[in-house]
Amino acid sequence: MGVKEFYILPGGFLTLDRSIFLTGTDMGKKVKAPVYSVLFMHDQGPILLDVGLNPAGLKDPEGAWGPRAKVIKPEFTESDDIRNRLKQIGLPVSDIKKVIITHLHWDHSGGLRFFTHCPIILQQAELRFAFYPDRNVCAQYMRNHFDYPLDFQTVEGDRMLVPGISVVKTPGHTPGHQSVIARLDSGSFFIFPGDALPLMENITLGIPAGNNWNNEQAMDSIYRLSHFAEILPGEIISSHDISIWETLKKSPDAYR
Ligand SMILES: [Zn+2]
Repeated sequence: MGVKEFYILPGGFLTLDRSIFLTGTDMGKKVKAPVYSVLFMHDQGPILLDVGLNPAGLKDPEGAWGPRAKVIKPEFTESDDIRNRLKQIGLPVSDIKKVIITHLHWDHSGGLRFFTHCPIILQQAELRFAFYPDRNVCAQYMRNHFDYPLDFQTVEGDRMLVPGISVVKTPGHTPGHQSVIARLDSGSFFIFPGDALPLMENITLGIPAGNNWNNEQAMDSIYRLSHFAEILPGEIISSHDISIWETLKKSPDAYR
């Protein structure tokens, strides 16, 4: 059939100004932001969505994460390493059949180099932009996160990747950002919006994030995802929302 279950794999926390997630709002107020990956257990094999923070930061924070390491102070432990999160539920990295990447920002692509054995699915616009980003947003892309002999397989626009898992193009945060809609075999829909929706307040207040490449496109994507959530209906699991995070079932518990 399709997706039997999925796991939310915790990947540590960042401390960021709240206006990064809600532009012009609560400037100077710091919030804790979770980082996570999702593991879909699919008939065609395990599929991973995003790969969290670069674990090299455990030993060398500035070398791995750049000068932001001192400001954002990632809270990241050995267990948060994507390889260890998989191991905790009995999966070696080599069992992963595909990795889907919402976008190539540093906090979503840090473990990519461990997945040279399988396809990495992302939007073509994202791959192109990550290597030569616009100057005003270039700090979020770190080549030491994605410049490896990886099997990048690009898509353009919306696509059902495998039965029960679709990618939808949601540009704005970045030019080639994509979100994922998953249908569990039980019939429930879940929407993983990546940084198209770091907080649920982006929908409820109608305010985009402060670190977007293009806010007009970002608003279109916010309303598009909100529409999917209503019509399917589906549950949105926003990407960096501590209040949502506290309500989630985390690995080793699974959604079925
Ligand atoms: Zn991002």
